[in-house]
Order: sequence, then structure tokens, then C-alpha cells
Amino acid sequence: MKSNIKTGLYWFRHDLRLTDNPTFNKLCEQVDRLICVYFQDQNKQHQGELYEGNTSKRKDIFEQQSVLALDKALRQKKQYLLILDTPPDSTLRGLVEQHKVTHIGADLHHGVYEIKAFHALQNACPQVKFISGSGHTLFSINDLPFELKNLPETFTPFRKQVEDRAISAPVAALSQLPNAIELSLEAPPEPAISTEIQGGETAGKKQLESYLFGTDLIKQYKQTRNALDDWHNSSKLSLWLANGCLSPRTVYHSIKQYEAERGANESTYWLYFELLWREYFQWYLAKHQDKLFHFSGVKQVAPSTHFNQYKYTRWCEGMTEYTIVNACMRQLNQTGYMSNRGRQLVASCFVHELGLDWRYGAAYFEQQLIDYDVASNWGNWQYLAGVGADPRGHRRFDLAKQTATYDPDGVFRKKWLLSDEH
Ligand code: FAD
Repeated sequence: MKSNIKTGLYWFRHDLRLTDNPTFNKLCEQVDRLICVYFQDQNKQHQGELYEGNTSKRKDIFEQQSVLALDKALRQKKQYLLILDTPPDSTLRGLVEQHKVTHIGADLHHGVYEIKAFHALQNACPQVKFISGSGHTLFSINDLPFELKNLPETFTPFRKQVEDRAISAPVAALSQLPNAIELSLEAPPEPAISTEIQGGETAGKKQLESYLFGTDLIKQYKQTRNALDDWHNSSKLSLWLANGCLSPRTVYHSIKQYEAERGANESTYWLYFELLWREYFQWYLAKHQDKLFHFSGVKQVAPSTHFNQYKYTRWCEGMTEYTIVNACMRQLNQTGYMSNRGRQLVASCFVHELGLDWRYGAAYFEQQLIDYDVASNWGNWQYLAGVGADPRGHRRFDLAKQTATYDPDGVFRKKWLLSDEH
């Protein structure tokens, strides 16, 4: 006899949160019981052939903290997260069969592997109802004022068309969730290492609250955002946005709330402006897909650079002839973070001074950055390599001039060149 029980399976990927997770809510509203799943190795398959080593420890810890924080939040609502290290496709198919899953939910993500995996699952489970939605972007595809194929090839015309459009308010977390299936109810152990920066939804909300309302730092954002160091000079929200502990819509509406309560200025607008850069690269990836990883880029112009092991290793280790680049690379290696200005300088050095194939630099960032986001990373690297969305096409930073502007007294260089934690 056919059962009437509706069983949902939610596949958490880059949306490790319960607040403003409309896809998760939509699935929960349609099912009687629920399985929540996360695959630990799902992000490690990208660009494997360009990798030398392993993902940085800091990146792994942040991800682990975020996953465990999600599990904890689910347990408070009598649910839990099944954290697996098996291949997603076969495991998901097995779960569908074993538990007679009727509905599957997963947030839309424009990554090439993410799309393929989602479609493969859809094809393998034609009897299941699939639910997805856009939680990783400010706009959904239907909110865009153009068809995806007509996305402008550079940022400014994109910004002009979208910046005044309404952005949906974040949706609240559900107070009650469908029943869990008792697969394993034991809470996983806390991560062995506790760190200054914590992954997870609560930590992300705290950072947002503190950067805006706790300190009013947003009021000077435009003047401070290009600094090379110091936690307070930019929002650091990328860490939580990248794995979805925070949604971009939550950030946007917090900026609007701040402006309503404490006043708007050029800096408060500029934080939104930078979120639009993030947004642009998400849709750029959606449109161009694997061209984002091609040597000749979206523009299809092959740079006259090539891979050189010695120069590449010197760059990774912060041992080039450019001290500003070395300091930035050591900051990255030691913390898993680098400022936006630092990223521009080291990428420009990689391509224009060292003459290296930009894809290896992008892949190194992919390994090291806690805030690694496929669209923002590969989109920015293409931009700096002159094969992507830069209208000028050849953006070479004068490293001596940049050093004099951003580290005139050598404080930043001294800090990172003298402290070595290898
Ligand atoms: P803030 O200055 O406070 O900006 C607020 C938010 O706007 C950021 O959190 C981010 O979501 C977005 N943002 C800001 N600048 C950019 C930008 N240029 N492109 C896209 N989004 C932006 N950002 C990532 O999130 N992940 C990456 O993997 C990544 N790789 C990059 C690689 C290169 C070569 C370059 C030049 C930039 C890269 N960026 C990446 C963009 C940017 O450097 C970081 O988003 C920013 O430094 C994060 O710090 P923050 O949150 O304090 O930024």
C-alpha cells in the first residue's frame, strides 16, 4: 500500500543557515518528516588538477565550525544534520531509496559542479519533487531586468540596471521543523581547535551587528576599505557570506536599517556597492559557467603567460622580489584572509610581473582563502588577468607606487615579514 507520508531531504551546500533560507523553509512546509544532509568533501573537487597541496587548515576549521553550528541550531528544533564524507551522488540516491524520500530541497548555486550534481540527482530520482530557490544572491533570476544571456559583460552597466531594484526582505527561520528520522541522534563533538574567528550563523550575525550597529564602522567604510591590514577596516562579512552562514539579503537589509536609524552617507552606500560586485560575479558565473576557468577566459584572449614552478612557489611562500606582495602572501598563509587591495596587488604581480598563468594563482587562493567563493574568486582573477570583465583589459598595478600609498612607513610589511608561523 502506498504511504501518504511525505519525506523531505534537504541538501545543505553553500547555505549553512536557518535565517533567510527560503528554499529550506519551502521544503519544510511541504513534508511531514525531514532529513538534513551535508557532505564534507563536496567543495574539494573543484579545479583539482591545478592544486599542489591541501586546503588550508583555517579554511577547514571555519567550515567545520559552520557545519556544527548549523547542526546545533537544528537540534534546538528537534532536527539534526547528517554530516557525511561519502560521495554525494550515490549517498543521496541511497537515502532517497531507503527512506522513500518524496521531496528534495537544495539552494541554487551557480557553480559548475553544483549545477551538474543537482541535475544528476534530478535525473536519477524522477519520482521525487525538487525544490530550489535563490538564497546565495540578492536577486533571483526572475528579478533581473534582463535575460541571463544578456547580462552585461562589465560591472557598471549591470550595477546601473539593478541597484535601485527592490530586494526581498530576509525570511525568518521556522520555529518548528518537520520530524527527524532517527538515523543518528548523537551530537558530533565540538571541533578540537577553537579560533578567534568563528564560523556559523550566530557568529556571522554578530559580526554584522558589530560592524554596523556596535561600532558605526560602516560610516567610514569607503575611506578605510582599501587598507591592507586591521580587522576593522572592512566588514569581513565575506567569511560568512561565502559558506552561507549569512545571506546577502540579510546584509543588504541591515545596511538599510542602519541608514534609516543612523543616517546614510557615501560609505553606507559603498558597502551595498561592493555587495553588487559580489552579485555581478555570481551572475557572471551563471552565464559563462566553465569559461570562468579557461586560460583565455570569458574574453577568449590567451595571455602571453605560462606556468613556472619556481616562480609560482616563491609567490606562494611570499619570497618574491616585491616586499609588499610577500607581506600579503604571508598574511594569507597565516590567517586565511587578505584584504581586497592585497588580493589585487598579489594577483597583478602574479600575472604582470612574474608572467604566470593566472589560473594557478586563482587555484592557490581557492585552497587558502577562508572566504573562498567560486564566482568572486575566479571572476576577480580573470578581471586582473585581462581575460574577464575588466573594460580596460590590462590592469597592472605599479607595486612601488602602491607600497608608498598603502604602507608608507612599512608597518604592514614589518608585521608580516617578521612573523613567520610556517
Ligand atoms: P568588504 O570590503 O567589507 O566588502 C563587503 C562585501 O562585498 C564582501 O564581504 C564581499 O562579499 C563583497 N565584495 C567586496 N569586494 C568584492 C569584489 N571585488 N568582488 C566580489 N565581491 C566583493 N571575495 C570573496 O568573497 N571570495 C573570494 O574568493 C574572493 N577572491 C578574490 C580574488 C581576487 C584576486 C580579488 C582581487 C578579490 C577577491 N574577492 C573575493 C573580493 C574581495 O577581495 C573580498 O570579498 C573582500 O576582500 C572580503 O573582505 P570584506 O568582507 O571585509 O569586504
